[in-house]
Amino acid sequence: MAEPAMLLNDAPPATDTTGRLDTSESFAKSLFTGEILFGNAFPYPRMSERDRELLAMMVDSIDHFMDGKDAALRDMDRDGAQPAEYVQELRELGLFGLVIPEAYDGIGLSNAGYARVLSQTSRYDSSTSLTIGAHSSIGMKGLLLFGTPEQKSRYLPRLASGEMIAAFCLTESGAGSDAASIRTSARKQPDGSWILNGEKIWITNGGIADLYTVFARTEGPGGKISAFIVEAAWPGVSRGHHEDKMGIRGSSTTTVTFADVRVPAENLLGEEGKGFKAAMAILNSGRTGLGGGAVGGMKTLIALATKQATERKQFGRPIAEFGLVREKIAQMTVDCFAAESTVWMIAHYIDSECDDYSVEAAIGKVFAGEAVNRAAWEALQIAGGNGYMREYPYEQAARDARILPIFEGANEVMRLFIGLSGLKHAGSQLSEVKSAVDDIFSNPIKGFGVLGSYAQRRIARATGLRGDKAPFNCPAELKESLAIYQKYASALATASEQLLRQHRKAVIERQADLKRVADVAIDLFVGLCTLSRAISLGADTKGDAAQGREIARVFAQQAKRRMASNLRRLAGNEDQSLDRLAGNILADGQYRWDVL
Ligand SMILES: Cc1cc2nc3c(=O)[nH]c(=O)nc-3n(C[C@H](O)[C@H](O)[C@H](O)COP(=O)(O)OP(=O)(O)OC[C@H]3O[C@@H](n4cnc5c(N)ncnc54)[C@H](O)[C@@H]3O)c2cc1C
Repeated sequence: MAEPAMLLNDAPPATDTTGRLDTSESFAKSLFTGEILFGNAFPYPRMSERDRELLAMMVDSIDHFMDGKDAALRDMDRDGAQPAEYVQELRELGLFGLVIPEAYDGIGLSNAGYARVLSQTSRYDSSTSLTIGAHSSIGMKGLLLFGTPEQKSRYLPRLASGEMIAAFCLTESGAGSDAASIRTSARKQPDGSWILNGEKIWITNGGIADLYTVFARTEGPGGKISAFIVEAAWPGVSRGHHEDKMGIRGSSTTTVTFADVRVPAENLLGEEGKGFKAAMAILNSGRTGLGGGAVGGMKTLIALATKQATERKQFGRPIAEFGLVREKIAQMTVDCFAAESTVWMIAHYIDSECDDYSVEAAIGKVFAGEAVNRAAWEALQIAGGNGYMREYPYEQAARDARILPIFEGANEVMRLFIGLSGLKHAGSQLSEVKSAVDDIFSNPIKGFGVLGSYAQRRIARATGLRGDKAPFNCPAELKESLAIYQKYASALATASEQLLRQHRKAVIERQADLKRVADVAIDLFVGLCTLSRAISLGADTKGDAAQGREIARVFAQQAKRRMASNLRRLAGNEDQSLDRLAGNILADGQYRWDVL
């Protein structure tokens, strides 16, 4: 493992909240109108001094605690549980109080600092990160975001010390991706208390939590969803056995059942009937934890792959000399830098109290989760047969990473969310253009006044005269990369407009097209974060800064090819054939052919 001092040097910069963010507008959504809100991503945010100081100590103590625990962590993976003494050690390290304000006895890290801690624990063990993350990112996040002062002072100090561990209870057997269809019920009693009935499944920390954030319907079937804080010790609360999982096996996953549980009126969390919105806000705000974890995992995989490639000799040479091995190591590095640049940009948005970062958070979740999966399989491949053996860490890394595209919003659903949110934003701007143009004809002077920046850019697009200029000095080496993002932001706007005009509301059913525009937006947002980060490393012609610029250039070229392909395939694709084929196979329930 790397020395603590080195780890601090590679700490991603984040969050000097004095930037000139336009907190009311979403950077990612604006890409669908062709607009790059440069001020919201350039210059790349820097870590606050307070976070830096705190992280120096925390990273050091995490390394000290986890270094040399390989065998114990492997036992936890094999046994499928973290021993109680291990969880106690996590408590003593202060890892349950990371995001809780100092006023409630927590450490009070920013989101950027928190994600950095999870990236450090993930260098050693994903399950450890999940135990901490399910507590901080989602389990008790609702209390931080929506709790009353009384609820906060009652629970947060105990949550900060780890005396209480928290879990987030949304999923049910009939309600996974469609979380709004939950059936757990909360019946209001004459004294204002509630009676809770239902069963939640696959709850991380389910078996060790003392406090659950539970989502239930408060007005019977079809009624609204509300959130409640429920103590595990209350009569009627029970949990099932530890699930026997593919990966992240050390973390606790169980069902949690509520049978006539009486919840006092004061444990309603947030407003009655606003629970679904609260659940989405909690998940959004918690996504940097997952992203930070993915980045930490990738850093370990890169270190493992590098060591293996250098030490393993075949055909009389270290395999590190072979082009196809080098390509994998380089690609893992590009992906890791891009994911890191994106995750800490999003943390900066959350810490700057941006109004809307939901699309950015979804992009970070999708990109970082898929990047660590690619890295895990590539590192395993570099290790060859050893990679397949349980004695080595690769197969566990691949199993552990596999959960990321599934939970906290399946990546398919995240892509639909990114695509639809972007199109909705573009659609609202289009109607503004329409009314502006109407006004131009009915009242030219007033009309020109309301011709906003979107309309101006749209006209510029139509006439080929681009208006956007980056308000910073782009290094010569990165000018082409910047031009790629400007060109494709414009192309995304044109494509979005065409999709909206052609399909109107029915665009919601065109999942393949939504995925294509979402993937273009992912490449644009991740690419621009990467570019900004590379510029922030300075102008040195050698070393980290020069390599950072090279990474940004590689990402931009790769993104260009993907974006061009996605946009081209909006017009020419095999969607109808594939849909027909799927229909036939689904009707048969099997593959039809055989060579017999
Ligand atoms: C290890 C683990 C830990 C978890 N921890 C928690 C927790 O702490 N708290 C909690 O509340 N939940 C938790 N979950 C639940 C998790 O969030 C859900 O598994 C996830 O939301 C997906 O729901 P599902 O598994 O029911 O899949 P489904 O909703 O059945 O979806 C299956 C697949 O169908 C596709 N799909 C679904 N809907 C669409 C659509 N509209 N369009 C296109 N494709 C679609 C996707 O490919 C998806 O992967 C956990 C799950 C696991 C496995």
